[in-house]
Amino acid sequence: MATARPKVIVVGAGFAGLNAVRKLTKLDVDVTVVDRKNHHTFQPLLYQVALAVLSPAEIASPIRSIFTRRKNVEVLLGEVMAFDLAGKKLRLKEGVELSFDYLVVAAGATHAYFGHNEWEHFAPGLKTLEDALEIRRRVLLAFEQAELKAATGNGKTPLNFVVIGGGPTGVELAGAIADIAHRYMRHDFRTIEPQLARVILLEGGPRVLAAFPEDLSVSAENQLREIGVEVRTNTLVTEVGEGYVKMGDERIESAVTLWAAGVAASPLGKLLSAPTDRAGRVQVESDLTVPGHQNVFVAGDLASFTDRGKPVPGVAPAAIQMGKFVARQIARDLEQQPRETFHYVDKGSLATIGKSKAVADLPWNIHISGFFAWLAWLFIHVAFIIGFANRLFVLSEWAWAYVAYKRSARLITDRR
Ligand SMILES: Cc1cc2nc3c(=O)[nH]c(=O)nc-3n(C[C@H](O)[C@H](O)[C@H](O)COP(=O)(O)OP(=O)(O)OC[C@H]3O[C@@H](n4cnc5c(N)ncnc54)[C@H](O)[C@@H]3O)c2cc1C
Repeated sequence: MATARPKVIVVGAGFAGLNAVRKLTKLDVDVTVVDRKNHHTFQPLLYQVALAVLSPAEIASPIRSIFTRRKNVEVLLGEVMAFDLAGKKLRLKEGVELSFDYLVVAAGATHAYFGHNEWEHFAPGLKTLEDALEIRRRVLLAFEQAELKAATGNGKTPLNFVVIGGGPTGVELAGAIADIAHRYMRHDFRTIEPQLARVILLEGGPRVLAAFPEDLSVSAENQLREIGVEVRTNTLVTEVGEGYVKMGDERIESAVTLWAAGVAASPLGKLLSAPTDRAGRVQVESDLTVPGHQNVFVAGDLASFTDRGKPVPGVAPAAIQMGKFVARQIARDLEQQPRETFHYVDKGSLATIGKSKAVADLPWNIHISGFFAWLAWLFIHVAFIIGFANRLFVLSEWAWAYVAYKRSARLITDRR
């Protein structure tokens, strides 16, 4: 009689989960992937969908199809709601219970509104394809409504776009909106002048891209100003409402407000009954396990880990490395080898600013700004698109969008 193979459940098919599963498929185990979405999303390109440069299918891939040929992988569409670590079980919102020998929780992160969840309605953040489509709808609709009003003699609408938060996502969004308004849209309207739209980036701290070296923050701010973004640092938002943002006594009218100011770990972190940091990330052991549970791993944005005195950042390469590491530890268990300690290999950080600008903080203290940094960003991101049938197709779509100011993704598909 065959002995039962270990059952591994991986929660979340983001960068961490997907990379764990890819390695696990080569082991003598049965893998179940549970995700509440049926697709893996390449989050670094979400803002290209939000700003109508790429279409959703170009940056997402059905999880089931990624593992079509891996016979020891079962993919389940479901939302994990509770864990029973002692009983080696978890429960889905859909009412189903699953049991495991090993559990890998890689449920990522979400937006944080710092106690003002009511702001979310007025200022959506960017995390999922649905968020990207909602942002696209709001931005395109803002231009349409301004044109309708102006063309029918009903006055001018201030076309102000306010982005709150000057981290990489805020910088990317602000740069892309400036490009859309000032370059892509300029010939499309007869009455309004999209190139006169204001794009305002508000950052509470003293500089944008605070996690980058200071010279690159300065460069990013200059590049943003060059493409017409108004950057305001040391500016704390105190209220967000329908059509406006307040900073103390000052109020800015806003056609579209976007939130890029805070990240919180998935609520699943707290359900693991383990110590968490202020963002709700699980403080894991050196082998990325939950303290007291050798068979339960946490990987990616949901894990809080300090490697040689430096916190591992919440970025895609860290999630990928953690996912692969976790699978390797399970392989070592099967081979009765001791567990290893996770070490993060930092290959640098990039942030893009509009159509052809970026900053790059690379190993050996190499800092690049401008077009060459953007080229590096472009090729790294296309190279990393996982599970997509044709990277060349995405690249050509993209190149076309950039050269010809493509129109096809500029559809408003939901007019709520
Ligand atoms: C707009 C944006 C731009 C970014 N740009 C960059 C960049 O340029 N470079 C970079 O390195 N990083 C970037 N990042 C960060 C990077 O995307 C994350 O670090 C990375 O996605 C983390 O991977 P993960 O696997 O931990 O989580 P995720 O990729 O977020 O995946 C989590 C998965 O878990 C699933 N899930 C969540 N909760 C449940 C549940 N209860 N039940 C079932 N499934 C669940 C989700 O559906 C999702 O598929 C960006 C992030 C965003 C949002």
